[in-house]
Amino acid sequence: MPVVLALLYVLCHGVVVAFWPGPAGEGSFVFLTAAPVLAALACLWRARRDRAALGWRATALALLLWAGGMAVNMADAIGAGRADLTPRVSLLLYVIYGVPLVFILARARRERWTISTIDGLMAALLGVLFFVHTLSFADRINVDDTAMANMRRMFDIQNLCIAAFACVRWLAGDVPERRSFFRALALYALLYLGVAYYINHFTAEQSFGAYNDLLIDVPFLLLAVLALRQAPAPGGVLHPRLSRLVQAGGPMILPLLLLVVGALVVDHARPLALAGFVVATLGFSLRSTLLQIDLLEAQARLDQLARQDGLTGVANRRQFDAALTSEWNRARRSGTEVGLLLVDIDHFKAFNDQHGHPAGDRCLQAVAAVLQATANRAADTVARYGGEEFAVIVPGTSVEGVLALAERLRVAVQALQLPEGRVSISVGVGFAHPPVMATAEQLLAHADAGLYAAKRGGRNQVAALPSGPMGFSFAR
Ligand code: GH3
Ligand code: MG
Ligand code: MG
Repeated sequence: MPVVLALLYVLCHGVVVAFWPGPAGEGSFVFLTAAPVLAALACLWRARRDRAALGWRATALALLLWAGGMAVNMADAIGAGRADLTPRVSLLLYVIYGVPLVFILARARRERWTISTIDGLMAALLGVLFFVHTLSFADRINVDDTAMANMRRMFDIQNLCIAAFACVRWLAGDVPERRSFFRALALYALLYLGVAYYINHFTAEQSFGAYNDLLIDVPFLLLAVLALRQAPAPGGVLHPRLSRLVQAGGPMILPLLLLVVGALVVDHARPLALAGFVVATLGFSLRSTLLQIDLLEAQARLDQLARQDGLTGVANRRQFDAALTSEWNRARRSGTEVGLLLVDIDHFKAFNDQHGHPAGDRCLQAVAAVLQATANRAADTVARYGGEEFAVIVPGTSVEGVLALAERLRVAVQALQLPEGRVSISVGVGFAHPPVMATAEQLLAHADAGLYAAKRGGRNQVAALPSGPMGFSFAR
């Protein structure tokens, strides 16, 4: 349906050009101004129901700026504009049309607003520099062929940059909605590049009102059709390495463009050029610093998650293994003792069967909290060893101290009042004043044997074997 409407639009535009030629081409101007406005409305409509909303909105803004430029031209053509201002205003609008597009093309995914603000400032200054540069020869385009050639080249470069960046972002898109947005933008920008190149290089200057105008509608109508179409089905990342490269390298686009355009205006607008260099350098440094802080925070969160048990919040098995090895090695170096408690909830299967798995989960959380609160020295490590078993590493404590802690844990869990009733634990105690040949695994086996003894002895008790199964002595 949108395709048919788009074709009808071009057809009507053709009819108007054929039957209302007029030297100013007023009728044609209406179509030329309405096409980007319609495309902008389609983009805004899409933005309301799409995850790439910011991209669609930025594109709509760009299209409205372009339409503004064309409207100013139209006012001039029908004699309503001011001849001294019109060329500058329309030029300004055509130039800053690129600003929202470059902003969205340079923007990485999931950035906080401070970073987006820095990018926005850089994009705005880029627009100013680009405008100032274009203005430096714009007044002479009607009398000076070099100025005209310069002007064409500037717009070619702008259009080429937008099309090229959009293609890269399309190929690198990792989220379906964003890929769909950048595909629409890339197809539009490529077509716009071609049409603008043809119009600027191969048609007579200021010759609106001819059949060539129909060509100008086409990119906008294409974009409108693409915006109105349903988003494609979700897919995986097409080029994961390219995607990472673009995510990492995208932030360089705006500062680099600022430096390049700053260098272009250095002769005729030195302070502005300087501002461009300063903003490019500061902006890039600042956004890199902010990004680095975000990455470090994300890394810290991931590290924490990698060491924590998801259900109970105590250390997980991986962290337990690392902590046991490190405490064991420390004890061997310094000649101090290490205690290890293995804690197992009694008859937990029955608890689960009777009260359901979610109640079992809450019980595990409550028991873990009690263990954590009771074994609360900074050096102690409480970990979920697996299922309904917990382990507590107790470094630098005498055997009496370790046994006392085990008993305190048992009493504290027994005192715990759950909505479903009470639970008890059995605790196996391992202890070592590590001799040269002993290993942490032997300590673990020692505690495990103690736990087995506690279960066999009737549960809800603490047990320690006087001598470990691997033959090293329990006490010094
Ligand atoms: P014992 O006194 O000999 O230790 O008996 P038990 O029933 O506690 O021992 P068993 O090893 O037979 O059962 C352990 C139960 O723990 C079985 C399993 O359903 C439950 N369990 C293990 N992990 C979880 C968990 O993450 N959540 C819940 N709700 N239950 C778990
Ligand atoms: Mg068990
Ligand atoms: Mg159990």
